[in-house]
Amino acid sequence: MKAEIIAVGTELLLGQIVNTNAQYLSQELAFLGIDVYFQTVVGDNLGRLKQAITIAQNRADVIVFSGGLGPTQDDLTKDAIAEVLGRKMYIDEDAMAKIEALFKGRGTVMTENNRRQALIIEGSDPLPNETGLALGNAISQDGKYYIILPGPPKELIPMFDHQAKPWIVKHVLTSEMPLFSKMLKFAGIGESLLEEKLIDLIQNQTDPTIAPYAKEGEVTIRLSTKAPTKAEANVKLNEMEAKIKARLPQHLYANIDVPIEHTIVHLMADQGLTLSAAESCTGGMVMETITSIAGSSSVLKGGFVTYTNEMKEQLLGVPHHLLEGTDAPGAVSAETAQEMAERVRTITNSDFGLSVTGVAGPGESEGKPAGLVYIGIAEKGKETEVHQLKLHGNRESVRNRAVKAILYRLWL
Ligand code: ATP
Ligand code: MG
Repeated sequence: MKAEIIAVGTELLLGQIVNTNAQYLSQELAFLGIDVYFQTVVGDNLGRLKQAITIAQNRADVIVFSGGLGPTQDDLTKDAIAEVLGRKMYIDEDAMAKIEALFKGRGTVMTENNRRQALIIEGSDPLPNETGLALGNAISQDGKYYIILPGPPKELIPMFDHQAKPWIVKHVLTSEMPLFSKMLKFAGIGESLLEEKLIDLIQNQTDPTIAPYAKEGEVTIRLSTKAPTKAEANVKLNEMEAKIKARLPQHLYANIDVPIEHTIVHLMADQGLTLSAAESCTGGMVMETITSIAGSSSVLKGGFVTYTNEMKEQLLGVPHHLLEGTDAPGAVSAETAQEMAERVRTITNSDFGLSVTGVAGPGESEGKPAGLVYIGIAEKGKETEVHQLKLHGNRESVRNRAVKAILYRLWL
């Protein structure tokens, strides 16, 4: 089964936006066992769009479209496909009702153009849009399959995942057994070391397949297998998971797709443990991350954002001689990270106290380079752990990575 992705939009050709939809769709199709042979980008032009479709018909079985489903005159994707396939279009009543209701709810006037977003090509299956207005379409003709998706990623991704994927499994991969998968999430180990530990499993993989999965700052593996039933698939997936776990006993923190903070909050809540944080360069991001998880109120007691030395002294009581003076280790130091973690833990009377102090950049501070960060973890009745991190990237990624690093360390 060969696929082509056609991303529609003059903005893409002008380099004003990056074609992340093609990246996402390629990954997802590969995962379904469908090989993407071509990725095409075409502008908002009816003639060239039809040309791109005709070319794709000659070299692919599955053609996935992204973009050009909006209400305006330059949104022409469905028009072009309908013309090439020689089919009419009509308004899908359900999608239309949804659009009308939305405008009514907002108290704004719906223009005639908006009706275009409810268009469906004769004979195709509607792919409802959970997060927007434009209706997706899926259709097969002459042994070829056409999947039509909206451009905005926040619409395209859920539509592909919840609507198009099951459609493909049902209509395109009919002779094949269904695919089952499992996500394994790792903490405190880099992608390359993980691969090294599993290299023989990865190289000899046939069933289940083992695929490292790209996700910002996270190390994730997706196991997948085809089987007639979920129970049979689970036997194979669980067996592989156990093998992997045996090699990396402490690093595997979840076998569902959840972030580390989810595992930490649930684990600590189950054990009745509490947490607090003193943050400098992350400005509250550690606490923000923890509070994003439902149930965190029984775990996170609170904490301080102590950005200046003055606040580190006043709010936490970090000794002045550590922060300032010729021989002082300074705010960005193991000593300060340790004091911050221990003091926030005792002030709040928590089981764990976390601290982050570092140079987010750009540029140095206290003569220390951007990316140098110290994290501390104080635990009741134990010696405080302090780690030095040398993080790469811009200010945003240094801060994000520091948050991940302390959560991973806490879990380990
Ligand atoms: P709309 O109803 O917003 O007009 P549409 O389906 O017509 O949606 P486009 O007009 O092509 O889609 O694109 C709308 C927006 O979606 C773009 O401005 C861009 O932000 C995003 N987008 C479109 N195509 C892509 C793509 N291939 N990759 C990533 N983002 C995209
Ligand atoms: Mg548009």
